[in-house]
Amino acid sequence: MFRKVLIANRGEIAMRILRCCQEMGIDTVIAFSSEDRDSLPVQFATESVCIGPAPAAASYLNQDALIAAAKEYQCEAIHPGYGFLSENADFAEKCESNGIAYIGPSSRMIRDMGDKQSARALMKKHGVPVVPGSEGILKDWKEAAQIAEKVGYPVLLKATAGGGGRGMRTAFDASEIQNAYESAQAEALSAFGDGSLYLEKLIQHPHHIEVQILGDTKGNLIQLGERDCSMQRRNQKLLEESPARILTQKQRDAIHKAALRAAKAVHYVSAGTVEFVLDRENNFYFIEMNTRIQVEHPVTEAVTGVDLIREQIRIAAGLSLGYKQSDIHLTGHAIECRINAENPARNFSPCPGRVSFLHFPGGNGVRIESALYNGAMVSPYYDSMVAKVIVHAPGRLEAIRKMRVALEEMTVEGIDTNIDFLYLIMYNNDFITGNVDTGFLEKNTDAIIRWGEESRRT
Ligand code: ADP
Repeated sequence: MFRKVLIANRGEIAMRILRCCQEMGIDTVIAFSSEDRDSLPVQFATESVCIGPAPAAASYLNQDALIAAAKEYQCEAIHPGYGFLSENADFAEKCESNGIAYIGPSSRMIRDMGDKQSARALMKKHGVPVVPGSEGILKDWKEAAQIAEKVGYPVLLKATAGGGGRGMRTAFDASEIQNAYESAQAEALSAFGDGSLYLEKLIQHPHHIEVQILGDTKGNLIQLGERDCSMQRRNQKLLEESPARILTQKQRDAIHKAALRAAKAVHYVSAGTVEFVLDRENNFYFIEMNTRIQVEHPVTEAVTGVDLIREQIRIAAGLSLGYKQSDIHLTGHAIECRINAENPARNFSPCPGRVSFLHFPGGNGVRIESALYNGAMVSPYYDSMVAKVIVHAPGRLEAIRKMRVALEEMTVEGIDTNIDFLYLIMYNNDFITGNVDTGFLEKNTDAIIRWGEESRRT
């Protein structure tokens, strides 16, 4: 096992990795930007090293500074967390060539899955259902128009290098295709330096269902059940649950099998997630594979009892998976809410600042992941997610009630947050009955905000 691991991340995920390392008897080195000098991970890590100024490009994305820090502090491995360099094949390769274990899949796997069009082609070859659409990269908008006629409108133009919902545009009919193509291409070029596009039929009112995978270097591969992440705003997840209430056991088994086939196709090693969209008839289609740990991993940990970060570290150290498929049983229901420093009434604009008072909820089946503390500064430089609340209960309705109590108790003063907004979702009839798809938040956000404002007035 490693003696020392460098954590190339910040915030709640840095704390999560740090705590796990401590439990495993591994020393930690946190690589931080000058902006995060007073952050919780810096205070709790065994050692810490400043790798650059506030802008992520100069610090958390500074590959050479991270490799140099790992060497200087004699770290045997680097954990990239999520975001930042976590799906950067060049960085994984740099770790490999410098003799540092990368806690994640190999650079080859990241590359294979990072090109979404090639991943789609590979999945098709291995019998994993993909959304009907183009066979390869589109030559121009005219080719897009031809294929759209064949698969039927509406369609989605997607960047093969895409991520974070960028480089994606919808065309509802032939009159929109040229514009959609050109704006998706322009956005992809500026965000990823690669304007290559492919086309998929737009699945209307889908559920976003994803399956957690773990694979080791000995060829063992297991799935740890699915998550429903349909509660999204601008393609960003806000709330995740496991298991997915919409699936029958037969459909659940089929989607798990498809995810295993997908992971086998790349001989996947480490923690990964196979993402699908589910249409109204519950047909599912592969959309992409994420080759890293995800924000929402705790809901899977709650229902399976498996520590995914611990497994990731063990796998990177060359150990076998600690579990067989027959050891994995989903128990109860888990929900995660993402707490963001933002103001829903002001179009969710980020709200950095100093936390003047903080109280976290607790109790049976309530878990908090956060790097906040009384007096902490929430920086404008990074993602606005500041905490995650995860509840686990025997059933979904009990989990919802637990989440209501947890959110009611949670107090964050000095900055605006979306806690009230999430609390109101817990009372929304459609959410309670599970009548939600990826369009739910777009449709209901204004009504939920109005409801909150009215109840404050009365
Ligand atoms: P990114 O890598 O940018 O996150 P994804 O391919 O994962 O892109 O898609 C992001 C979200 O967009 C998905 O969670 C899903 O809600 C929606 N989406 C993607 N593809 C389709 C599709 N073919 N039909 C309907 N919705 C889709």
